[in-house]
Amino acid sequence: MAIFEILKYPNPVLRQISEPVTVFDQDLADLASDMAETMLAAPGAGLAAPQVGKPVRLIVIDNSSDEEDHGTRVLPLVNPEIVESDGSQIFEEGCLSVDELKANVSRANFIRVEAQDLEGRPIDLEFEGRRAVILQHEIDHLKGILFIDHLSLLKRTMYEKHVSKKLKKQEKEK
Ligand SMILES: [Zn+2]
Repeated sequence: MAIFEILKYPNPVLRQISEPVTVFDQDLADLASDMAETMLAAPGAGLAAPQVGKPVRLIVIDNSSDEEDHGTRVLPLVNPEIVESDGSQIFEEGCLSVDELKANVSRANFIRVEAQDLEGRPIDLEFEGRRAVILQHEIDHLKGILFIDHLSLLKRTMYEKHVSKKLKKQEKEK
C-alpha cells in the first residue's frame, strides 16, 4: 500500500486522454488499492488514475451511503462509460487536482455507467444525485477534462491567472 502524490493543475498529464485498461492483473489491483488509500487520505470522494500520473481508464469512488461509513466501500471502476443520462442538477464541486477553488457545476442528475471490475467482469450501475456528480467528474478526468472547464470563461480565466501568478511567485522564491 502506498499513497501517491496527487498531480495539480496545470500539470499536463491531467490533460491527457487516458488509455483503456486491457490487462486485469495484480498491478491493476495494486494501483486501485493505492488510489483508494490516496483518496481516503486526501480526503476526497473520488480519484481518477491520471491524477496520480497514470493515464489509464481507472477511477475509484467513495461509495459510502453516509458520513458514518466513509471509506468503507471504495468502488473501483475500470473503463467506465456513461451510457445513459437524465435530468440536471447544480452541485458545488472541488477537485484534489485543483487547489483553492470550489464552484457550482451543472451535471446530469441520473446516469447509468457501464464498466468493468478489477477482474474484467462487466458491471452496470446507476447513480443519482451527489454520487452521479462524482462519477461524471471522475470520468471527465479520463478525457482530460477538469471541472473548471465547465465554468464560465470569466471564472476560468480568473482562476488560471491566479494559478500562474502563484507559480511565478513560487519560482521567484526558489
Ligand atoms: Zn477531480
